Amino acid sequence: MSDSAKLRLLDSFRCLADLCPDDCCHQWNAHVDKETLGKWQTIPDASKRQHLMSTVQESTQNPSELVLIRKENGNCIHLDEHGLCDIQSSFSHEYLPLSCQQFPRETITKNTLRFETAHLSCPAIIDLLAKSDMGSLIENEGELYTHQSMDIISQLSSSIHHYMQSIFKIESLYLGLKIYALSTVIAEIMSLAAENTLTSELLNNQYRQSPEQLKEKWLAWQNQSHNKEFERDKAEIKKFLQKLDTGLLAKYKQPLQERFKIEIPNLSFSNFVKWREQVDIDRYEPFFEKYIHVKFLNHGFPWNPIQSNHIATFLDCIFGLILSHHVVTAYHRANIIVDEDMLKKITYTIEKINADNFDNFRLIGAKSELLDISKYNLFFTLLV
Ligand code: SF4
Repeated sequence: MSDSAKLRLLDSFRCLADLCPDDCCHQWNAHVDKETLGKWQTIPDASKRQHLMSTVQESTQNPSELVLIRKENGNCIHLDEHGLCDIQSSFSHEYLPLSCQQFPRETITKNTLRFETAHLSCPAIIDLLAKSDMGSLIENEGELYTHQSMDIISQLSSSIHHYMQSIFKIESLYLGLKIYALSTVIAEIMSLAAENTLTSELLNNQYRQSPEQLKEKWLAWQNQSHNKEFERDKAEIKKFLQKLDTGLLAKYKQPLQERFKIEIPNLSFSNFVKWREQVDIDRYEPFFEKYIHVKFLNHGFPWNPIQSNHIATFLDCIFGLILSHHVVTAYHRANIIVDEDMLKKITYTIEKINADNFDNFRLIGAKSELLDISKYNLFFTLLV
């Protein structure tokens, strides 16, 4: 039996085709499935068959998977100079890998769990996301956490999810504070798990709290402790931003500047404080909240974390939010107010540029101190 959840907006999806301001054939690793390879191997014309087979390589993310080769500019090797796919023109739609046939739809599975979702790099999906209601984004979301006999790891994921759902329901907390609250819980639970002191009772008593309970707790914390603790952790927050500036941003700065034709400032502490004070970030919050919720579930947080690592998967998602937030503030710096259309463009472009999430994992692997989130997570309160 399969436990299924679904991104509701998929029901309204229509490809924008030639009206699409982007397209799906660049900056994306198209997975080539066994069924498609089998079909290619039966192509009677030997030279066409060999040519097609030579356009596949092992994925750098997962060597057991094959992907279509990309050109230096990030375009799929099959995208011709007219922006058309040569597999479609030389063969037919059925010869496309399933991932291309289905894009932007994607089904993620874990044992009997199944999540039907969509890539956020598609402009049509981002447009629907902007129009969606936060409360009804996902159909049957709880199904991703239902197990008949839950081991402690599944219970842990389910508790983090429960916390996430409760915190996202509180209207009087701003998004950055919600993300901070969630990060404190992840850090605590993972540290208890590492010490082998995590029990079902603890998870149930401490972390399965209602939105009302969490609202009271976090509003009190914001009023009484935020400033004091922020001052205490300032040096660590600065160090965190320096690491991101020389890691994450160093890699994406040039493509971001090229795509947006705008100077992207450093990820420095003073810039974040300054923009937080000056930009009316609140107007972007409802959209970013939906974006981060779907991004979390798309990346398996917390139901199926990449490499079983909740903290790294959480950070991987937050990196997308930090980059989007940062581009909004770069526009503000140039005295340009980001409207809803521009916000959507920023988001799907960053999703495209930052699609290779294993790159983020490599960054986290190279700077493993990033996993120690409780040292610097007060930074998240500077976000939207
Ligand atoms: S990115 Fe989305 S809207 Fe654009 S061509 Fe691809 S599927 Fe269609």
